[in-house]
Amino acid sequence: MLIDTYNRIHNYLRISLTDNCNLRCFYCMPEENYHFMPNQQLMQVDELIKIAQLFVEQGVTKIRLTGGEPLVRKDAAEIMHALGKLGVELTITTNATRVNHFIDDFEKAGIRSVNISLDTLQKEKFHLITRRDQFDTVKNNIDALLLRGFKVKVNVVVVKGLNESEILDFIEWAKNTAIEIRFIEFMPFDGNQWKSDKLVTLHEILSKISEQYQFIPSTNAAHDTSKHYSIPGHAGSFAIISTMSAPFCSSCNRIRLTADGKIKNCLFSEEESDLLNALRNGEDLLPLIENAINTKHKELGGQFSKQFELIDANTIHNRSMIAIGG
Ligand code: SAM
Ligand code: SF4
Repeated sequence: MLIDTYNRIHNYLRISLTDNCNLRCFYCMPEENYHFMPNQQLMQVDELIKIAQLFVEQGVTKIRLTGGEPLVRKDAAEIMHALGKLGVELTITTNATRVNHFIDDFEKAGIRSVNISLDTLQKEKFHLITRRDQFDTVKNNIDALLLRGFKVKVNVVVVKGLNESEILDFIEWAKNTAIEIRFIEFMPFDGNQWKSDKLVTLHEILSKISEQYQFIPSTNAAHDTSKHYSIPGHAGSFAIISTMSAPFCSSCNRIRLTADGKIKNCLFSEEESDLLNALRNGEDLLPLIENAINTKHKELGGQFSKQFELIDANTIHNRSMIAIGG
């Protein structure tokens, strides 16, 4: 078992398959000329499976594939099939632009739930946010997943002045559609020009929704990062991920593996441990994993406090989100 010094059991591994992406969301991948990692720097399929297997032997029961965009990786299907044999709950977070090529693979690998990023229901705004014209494809692929019986959660990063005016439109979408809308507070990462006044907080989101709907808080699972709510009569539901205004570090069960094989024990950790090079050098990986767990900070990577108004994003040492794996 991977238990840290605050008695948190780590049984959920998020693996980034690549830092490459076919969209350019400004809050995630700031510059158009960002240099993607060369292929040899990434974990190859056999390496990735060996590392994942080791985590499973240490008690990991859930693996999420992420990125960058996991489905731009050529061997994504091969990776899913191999991980599907490890006996864990396998899930994926994707921008859904390429989902139509992978629905059969999801089924075969045992993926039943898919998280999809979509920050706006307006085609032009989608282009503004992602710098690519893929809105219709994403919407069609969400419909295709629902038709095939997948559980779909839609991730919406809420940014002041950009899309908070659409909060009620997302809720309306979930009225007759069995999706979970997950509003995510905007988080600071390297180069994404985060400022506290761009944050739309849990409190503000709930207050907006309460203008038109009566909602009921649902019971949260032990390690939930999101707070769940239902609305009577709605087929879908909503949740809020309040990393900035009401963090959930005390029940964190997550470890991250970057596409270049480094452990990050927290989304905001500055420290990383290089598993991939150790594997390539024939070293024992377990002490590195244990050390990464043992040195996990109590909250927020030890980099900032819960008072988000005081955060100076320029003082945070971290990768950009696209290079971490969200
Ligand atoms: N490409 C996939 C996607 O977009 O779903 C997977 C990777 S993406 C980095 C994972 C999640 O992180 C997405 O839901 C995205 O919206 C979220 N994300 C990226 N940057 C963020 C930020 N600065 N604050 C909050 N969420 C962010
Ligand atoms: Fe790509 Fe996902 Fe980041 Fe957008 S949020 S740039 S889709 S990795």
